[in-house]
This record gives sequence, structure tokens and C-alpha cells, in this order.
Amino acid sequence: MHFNPYGGTAAELAARLVNADPEMDLLEVLDAAGYKPLGSLDARQTAELRRWIARLAEVFDAPSVPQLNALLAETTSRPYISTHDGRPPHLHYAHEDAPTDERVKAYTAAGLAALFCEDPDRIGRCARPGCAVVFVDTSRNGRRRFCSTRCSNRVHVADHRMRRSA
Ligand SMILES: [Zn+2]
Ligand SMILES: [Zn+2]
Repeated sequence: MHFNPYGGTAAELAARLVNADPEMDLLEVLDAAGYKPLGSLDARQTAELRRWIARLAEVFDAPSVPQLNALLAETTSRPYISTHDGRPPHLHYAHEDAPTDERVKAYTAAGLAALFCEDPDRIGRCARPGCAVVFVDTSRNGRRRFCSTRCSNRVHVADHRMRRSA
């Protein structure tokens, strides 16, 4: 059985969208994440998704029940099981024929909401000042504070220097 911990790929996709370079084409970001069916995005849908991603970023900053319920309420969610693209049966929150922006909204809202209910502390943003990268903490103990070992090392080196000079 495939257990889908911590909101699974849907929460990961929300993090990837928030972390993506705003200059990057959103369809490319979705494609790189393996999102299927990819569909298409026109200018209006792209603007809509950018607005949505800004709200997802707020969730990573300070996740709360009202905030996530507001996101869920805005999606046209109608769960069903799909087997598209030869994939094993999996739960969909919007129909695979629905517009890409609607599907991404339903998917990411459901993913973050599931993650929040499992463990809200696993929705995080890097603790290094100046780093804005968000992440889904899939570590065993769930105490991850930084987006990468690079950020964690930089903060620890800085702490060490500060202690030595004190
Ligand atoms: Zn699917
Ligand atoms: Zn970082």
C-alpha cells in the first residue's frame, strides 16, 4: 500500500509553485513537477494562478484553519477516483478535464489542508534570514527549520562566529 504522508505530492506542488521564479512560465513549473494532465493556461488563468500562489505563500508563513478553509471554499472541489495517463487509481479533487488553473487550485488547497490536519508544523518556511524558500517537512522527527543544508550551515557558521567574538 502506498501511504501518502504529509499531504503528499499535492502539498509538495504548492511548495514548488511558491518557490518558483516568478519569471518562469507556470506551465513549465507544473510540467517539471510531473503534473498531469498538464492542459494549458491563458493570460487570465495565469494571472489567477499567480494570485493563488501568493495566498499559498501566506499559508506557508502562518498556516491556520480559517485561511485553509477560505482556500478550500474557493475551489470547485468534487472528489473522484481517476486512472488517467496510465496512472494507478488516485483521488482527484477537480475533474481532469477542468481548466488547469481550477485543477491546480483544488489540488493544492486539498494537499495543504490534508498536511495541516496531519501535522501543521510540517508546513514551513526557511528560518535563515533572507531566505524565502518554503518546504514540506518530510523528515522523521518533523523538526526541519531550513530549506537546505546550505542554509542551515550558513546560520550555524554565523552563530558560531558570533559566539566566538562575544
Ligand atoms: Zn491525476
Ligand atoms: Zn533557505
